Amino acid sequence: MLSACKNQQNIFLQEWDTPYGTAPFSQITLDQYMPAFKAGIQEEKANIQAILSNPDAPTFENTIVAMEQASPILDRVEGVFFNLSESDSTPEMQAIEEEVLPMLTEASNEIMMNEALFARVKAVYEASESLTREQQMVVKRLYESFERNGVGLAPDAKKRFAEINTRLATLSQKFGQNLLAENNAFKEATGITVSEYYDFMASCPDRAKREEVFKAYSSRGNHADDHDNNAIVLETLRLRAEMAELLGYPNFAAFQLSNKMAGDPATVDAFLQPIMDAAMRSAKLQMKEMEKLAGFKIEAWDWSYYAEQLRAREYALDESQTKPYFQADSVLKGVFTAAERIYGLRIEEAPEVEVYHPEVRAYKLSDADGSLIGIFYKDYYVRPTKRGGAWMNNFRDQYVLPAGQASAGAFARTGSRSDAEADASPADIRPIIVNVCNFPAPGDDPTDAQPSLLTIDNVQTAFHEFGHALHGFLSQCHYKTVSGTSVARDFVEMFSQFNENFAFVPEILAAYANHYQTGETIPAELVDKVRKALKFNQGFTTGELCAASILDMRWHELSAAELATFQGAQDIRDFEAKVCQEMGLIDEIIPRYRTPYFNHIMGSGYSAGYYGYLWSEVLAVDAWEKFLADGVFNPATAKAFRQTFLEKGGSEEPMTLYRAFRGADPDPSALLRARGLQ
Ligand SMILES: [Zn+2]
Repeated sequence: MLSACKNQQNIFLQEWDTPYGTAPFSQITLDQYMPAFKAGIQEEKANIQAILSNPDAPTFENTIVAMEQASPILDRVEGVFFNLSESDSTPEMQAIEEEVLPMLTEASNEIMMNEALFARVKAVYEASESLTREQQMVVKRLYESFERNGVGLAPDAKKRFAEINTRLATLSQKFGQNLLAENNAFKEATGITVSEYYDFMASCPDRAKREEVFKAYSSRGNHADDHDNNAIVLETLRLRAEMAELLGYPNFAAFQLSNKMAGDPATVDAFLQPIMDAAMRSAKLQMKEMEKLAGFKIEAWDWSYYAEQLRAREYALDESQTKPYFQADSVLKGVFTAAERIYGLRIEEAPEVEVYHPEVRAYKLSDADGSLIGIFYKDYYVRPTKRGGAWMNNFRDQYVLPAGQASAGAFARTGSRSDAEADASPADIRPIIVNVCNFPAPGDDPTDAQPSLLTIDNVQTAFHEFGHALHGFLSQCHYKTVSGTSVARDFVEMFSQFNENFAFVPEILAAYANHYQTGETIPAELVDKVRKALKFNQGFTTGELCAASILDMRWHELSAAELATFQGAQDIRDFEAKVCQEMGLIDEIIPRYRTPYFNHIMGSGYSAGYYGYLWSEVLAVDAWEKFLADGVFNPATAKAFRQTFLEKGGSEEPMTLYRAFRGADPDPSALLRARGLQ
């Protein structure tokens, strides 16, 4: 039971008087979350009610901006809770999550299904010519989300739609929780973590052990036990198809694609298959080479091992040569150095900012003129309470608080301001962003301190996630709805993949790739080998990524009637096998994610959207070709990239921004060139 007194001290119910307005993690206790969520929902309801009872005609300010600012308590508690529930989850956090998600979905459904509110939004949308371009994009986004949430449906359909939404939120959470349990079970059974899998498969000479690890990895969520995800998958797919049909789309993929850069499933299918074909041509050639080397027929669990042998033979390179130059702290320095050199930023540790776990570090980013860009948390190392993979997340979004509103205090761009100033001028609220990875943790025995040495893939991940962070940090928008990474899913990965390019630029490498024992900089010929080797094994790497993208599309191209014929786990496995065969995937390669552990499309927001990585990569490599042509450190090109893309977020259509930067449409063959498949 909470006492009234304790309730008053709930940290989420007040503004934070902390450095840069960062979360005071040490004052947060588990029992504060639920009361804060409940108070936040009440506050939001009251603010929405105030919008509805406004007697004035609907305007952008009194409706759209008011909606964006309707939930300060929820913004605070959600920012903290949903970051920690992924990066430092515990059974207690999971229990809160299960309780709170249906509540939040219901509250959001109530808003998005409110016809009177929609009528106000629609009035602003229909009279939006006089608004700024950014405001037009904000109101369009909001108008479409109402439509996509079924506001126009008949009462019965509307009720069903809300039920589906609530259930889907629970299913997606359950999928993720099962997967976390399965990943931990995988570690118990095999002694390696999920994030060490690829590295292990490339380096373990024991064929029987590789087979065992492959089978354990590829059967996660598929054991007909408490953590089996098949039933969740099937229910999720059925509900999504039903939802799409309620809105008038033939299937969920058609619905999902309708507000993306790609536009429709046929465009995505036509984009993916040629990539798959090129990947398989390359994979088959490489397989012949590997079989010569092995002296027997390669199985799925042999691929990475013999690919690594072949790589060592062709390029005289294996990861044990490069790892000593890629100590995690040095790599972070490289990530920062690249941002400093390209965009003129300054990044320094911010020990005054509290962190949520002893392994996390906080940093302050400043612009060339000294003004505040934002606060960055680095959370790099694997731990059992963290979900697998790597991601960027906002604790707070960038936006501009209009003049005359509550003091934004110490976290505005210009630093701390007096109350008088706060009232007189708008405040550019700067973002707070985290990068979470699952890199090997350094040894914790101080007498035998084993550093965290990263693979080339890890190094790319560090640059990738910071690319997302830069998209969030350099945002110069006015509204949260479109600021930073709030862009279409098939556009957002452009910036992370673009940033990966800097990892192996010689000038950047010289700044960070130093041997962890001798301090010696990575030799130029080793770098050259790395660059060549990155194009090696692309039949496999591109193939498994493209296969997962196609699998995602096929699942979501099924209609509700087609999904009704599926009985259970065996039908799911059969369908997956059929899809893999039809796309031309060879037996020795499996999709990067099989259905029961495909968290991107089941537990996270990439359903009918996983193709977005390849789609965005075309944009990234095509933009990089311009950097190469102009000179990687050409200040004018970097400035154009920053101003055209990074500052704009979703305040303009992606293709319009793209053409403004490049002077042409993106060229799909740039991807095959970059991956050495053409
Ligand atoms: Zn990404």
